[in-house]
Amino acid sequence: MTKKINDSFQTSLAQGGENTTQPFKPIIPGIFTSTTYQRDEDNQYRSGRVYSRADNPTYDAPEKLIAQLEHAADAKLFASGMAAATAVFQALKPGDVVLAPDIMYWALRNWLKGLATDAGLHVHFVDMTQLDQVENKITQLQPKLIWLETPGNPMWTVSDIRAIADIAKHQGAHVAVDSTVATPILTRPLELGADIVMHSATKYLNGHSDVIAGALATRENDDFWKRILAIRAQGGAVPSPMDAAQLLRGMRTLFLRVRESCNSAMFLAQQLEQHPMVSEVLYPGLPSFAGHEIACKQMEGGFGGMLSIRLVGGEQQAVGTAAKTRLWHRATSLGGVESLIEHRASIEGAGTPVPNDLLRLSVGIERKEDLLADLVHAIEASA
Ligand code: PLP
Repeated sequence: MTKKINDSFQTSLAQGGENTTQPFKPIIPGIFTSTTYQRDEDNQYRSGRVYSRADNPTYDAPEKLIAQLEHAADAKLFASGMAAATAVFQALKPGDVVLAPDIMYWALRNWLKGLATDAGLHVHFVDMTQLDQVENKITQLQPKLIWLETPGNPMWTVSDIRAIADIAKHQGAHVAVDSTVATPILTRPLELGADIVMHSATKYLNGHSDVIAGALATRENDDFWKRILAIRAQGGAVPSPMDAAQLLRGMRTLFLRVRESCNSAMFLAQQLEQHPMVSEVLYPGLPSFAGHEIACKQMEGGFGGMLSIRLVGGEQQAVGTAAKTRLWHRATSLGGVESLIEHRASIEGAGTPVPNDLLRLSVGIERKEDLLADLVHAIEASA
């Protein structure tokens, strides 16, 4: 059973949240391009602003809105989703143990295996869908951080945030969740016991494939969060003010876009499941999907706009299908208003756990029947 969508966000999203940046009462907050701010005559910085590597008033409205959506004590924008995610790991110390999912965003997995490991983190990959395995690893390895991504890219594996956060809490570990695909419309990990939520704001939050940005939100203003803020301020991995303003503009339609994408993704998943050339549809909204029950518990109003299909004709048919679509754009990324199709194993390269007969679909807001017809035509034409 799908939980009812939480529409309490619809109004604040449409209005772009609170606008506190200007005395002229504009409907849209201003864009502050200044890199530096004046000191008062007595040498103080009473405005609270010093230099834009650390912060910028243009971020205030989108950050407050993200904090409101996630029910967070604080939220901050970053230059990209990767900048946001890596700041969380950089806040750890050499020798610290990290648990991460075996199915997760590939660039972050590669970073964890490479640069993060070189810097002294001990990273272990676990099947986060198997609670007993997760519990064993937590007890055995005493991790400082458990990283979740749910639904997990690109197999859409669902992990139980509440159950894992409960186990982590007993062992004193932080839990951070990449919630890019669920968005705060469908899941709010902090309410389920997580400590940090991460978004690639490049995806659904912005929604128009024209901004690279990231965001973190925290349940508490604790020492771990303060370290993350120091990493951000000192490293300067922040977006341009133009991008921050554009992100806020995109977020104003987040509710409508997510609702539409969820409805269309569910329709496509149900239809494609019947197609004889599709061997498997991976989508948390399908009762046949392994993570469906947990998805019903922790996702409200829909199961997201991302699904993957596997084709009976293997890699050749998968690549051939992507080549033959007309409406679906062949491109990486997700969460935009236009639908994208991708042969995922090709971009992830050697060592990927993704089967090579798999196509990842990011469902936009086009008419769902048009999307289905185009895809079915391409599947059949590539047989
Ligand atoms: N997390 C997920 C689930 C993603 O899909 C991506 C990008 O594809 C990222 C993180 C990284 O975000 P960005 O591209 O904004 O750095």
